[in-house]
Amino acid sequence: MHEWSVADAVIRTVIDWADGKKIKVKKVVLGVPSFSFLDVEILKEAFDMMKKDSVLDEAELEVKFKDPKFKCKNCGKEFSLNEVKDQIDSVKSEFGEEYPMHFMPALAPSFIKCPYCGSHDIILESQDMTIDEIQVEENGTVKTVSQG
Ligand SMILES: [Zn+2]
Repeated sequence: MHEWSVADAVIRTVIDWADGKKIKVKKVVLGVPSFSFLDVEILKEAFDMMKKDSVLDEAELEVKFKDPKFKCKNCGKEFSLNEVKDQIDSVKSEFGEEYPMHFMPALAPSFIKCPYCGSHDIILESQDMTIDEIQVEENGTVKTVSQG
């Protein structure tokens, strides 16, 4: 299952990073593209199962969804969902709260146009999952380490 391999990758990365440091990991914040079809509950369950007997033993996993980014094939400009908010809002008012992109941001290019040139030739840029933050306890002090 996808969630288990993601949990495995996160745990391995943090263990590698923590190697040799006298720390306990308290929390890991994972940035996930909002269009990746991950079940957060399963991911957390997998994380909790797999973290045992490691530096992550007491760690909590927090998942933050990142806004998708788009690129216009016509003019080459990149833009975020926020920059086409007006367009999304009008799709919302047409479809209601259950508007199609809410479930499938990958459909967004069919509904929006480039805010710079008006072209509909838009692609959804893929984003990677990132470990955005790691909260650790070192000598009794809790601190947050931000990853690039
Ligand atoms: Zn454009």
